[in-house]
Amino acid sequence: MQLSEIVDPLISWYARCARELPWREKITPYRVWVSEIMLQQTRVEAVKGYFVRFINELPEVSALAQVPEERLLKLWEGLGYYSRARNLQKAARVICEQHGGSLPASYEQLIALPGIGPYTAGAISSIAFGLPEPAVDGNVLRVVSRLRASSADIAQMKVRREIEQDLRAIMPSGAAAGLFNQSLMELGATVCGPNGPPNCDACPLNVFCEGRAQGIATQLPVKAPAKPRRIEERTILVIERDGLIALRRRPSRGLLAGLWELPSLAGKVEQHAQLVAHVRNMGLEPIKLEPLPPSKHIFTHLEWHMTGVRVLVDDSETSQPLVWASPLQVTKKYALPSAFEAYIAPIKNINF
Ligand code: SF4
Repeated sequence: MQLSEIVDPLISWYARCARELPWREKITPYRVWVSEIMLQQTRVEAVKGYFVRFINELPEVSALAQVPEERLLKLWEGLGYYSRARNLQKAARVICEQHGGSLPASYEQLIALPGIGPYTAGAISSIAFGLPEPAVDGNVLRVVSRLRASSADIAQMKVRREIEQDLRAIMPSGAAAGLFNQSLMELGATVCGPNGPPNCDACPLNVFCEGRAQGIATQLPVKAPAKPRRIEERTILVIERDGLIALRRRPSRGLLAGLWELPSLAGKVEQHAQLVAHVRNMGLEPIKLEPLPPSKHIFTHLEWHMTGVRVLVDDSETSQPLVWASPLQVTKKYALPSAFEAYIAPIKNINF
């Protein structure tokens, strides 16, 4: 099979079958950029609402460059991987300072911006500027591996680069560049998907596909397993005082850097005396403790296995750097990572 054979059938299929998505309307470099960053590691369905809200509030690069970080993180709340939001803002500031407020129409200049890697630079270059640059994500790696019946390990950078090079060689230019990249990703997202067998009958490339012809498409692509995630036990404290909830800021570096969180202790702490001692160490006087259901959150390389405790405290002062937030402020003002969702969701619905 020649890879070049797939270009035209894919683009015509995309014209007929592409899903309607908010970022595919009114294509601008800024909208493409924001949507591509949001879509990293995140499902399309989850991104739709976030994208619309983000663009309505920050409709252009200068608005993103100027928005207070607290508000930016609130707009991102629940999407996870918050460094993406911070890098968006860093890049927006560079774009305002060095590129006159518009994204540069150059792959090299795009990839030099914070948070933009080869995939995103390729997507913006091709979709927004019509440049013949490939945009290779997991969907594209899967489709190409199946088309070629290739058992090369797509976890290897070398394999990824080879696929990138091969696609660059067949990329059309102008508007077709963006359509080609989007059609390949769309096929991987909707027809030649990651879970379960591919829907080869509906595939515009089925006559070319060697994986299908050899009956091995479902076993492809080959991807070396990632290292198992580290498991960390944590005890989450939902501390209430006069109808307010205690929040604290996480350290400025590391996991969930700088975000607000519920106070917590390392390990699974269930002993009443130990919990009381910990809360007193925080400068608070517990009146009542109630266990909350366990919860789990999965990060890329880490899992938090959480136990929750609701702690009612009296109104004595604390020496800890806590803020006391109302349910409305928890909903509207403070950005809390979705790791705490199991404990935060009930608070948002409370009328104290
Ligand atoms: Fe994927 Fe099947 Fe299409 Fe091949 S024919 S690219 S395996 S959906």
